[in-house]
Amino acid sequence: MSCEKMETRILAYMDGRLKENERAEAEKHLAGCAACRLRVNEFRAVNDLLDELPAIEPSGAFNARVHALVAAEPQKRSSWLTWLAPSPRIAFVASMLLLATVWVGTRQAPPPPIAAPDLPVVESADYDVISSFAPLSDLSQAPDDDADDSDANSQQQQPQQM
Ligand SMILES: [Zn+2]
Repeated sequence: MSCEKMETRILAYMDGRLKENERAEAEKHLAGCAACRLRVNEFRAVNDLLDELPAIEPSGAFNARVHALVAAEPQKRSSWLTWLAPSPRIAFVASMLLLATVWVGTRQAPPPPIAAPDLPVVESADYDVISSFAPLSDLSQAPDDDADDSDANSQQQQPQQM
């Protein structure tokens, strides 16, 4: 018998649970192996120590206290409490999902579409609008006009152009 096999049987040997031939093998190994003998002695010492420990019997007062605590424990949660119980975790998961969605959304959002080729088009369009704006052309063509009526403008432009 090897020391490894003896290790697996040492507890059974000490408890007397080995079969007769196994027990004979173990004792034969122990007779020739000081290391396993020492191990068995150590286990025996620990066993003796455990046996010497006084068995602690719970007092009657302790029993009564435990029974009172068990009785005071609510038997069943009311329905709305049971319903509410998993909600903090669900709310947490939902908020984390929402945060992740927002984060991914902001992260994948394309940059503001300021395309360089678009800008000259916008500028020229603005210029066209301004240059073709009728009141401005009227102002430039008749800057020092004293006329107060708008319908007189067209009539007063003609003398200046002539
Ligand atoms: Zn051995």
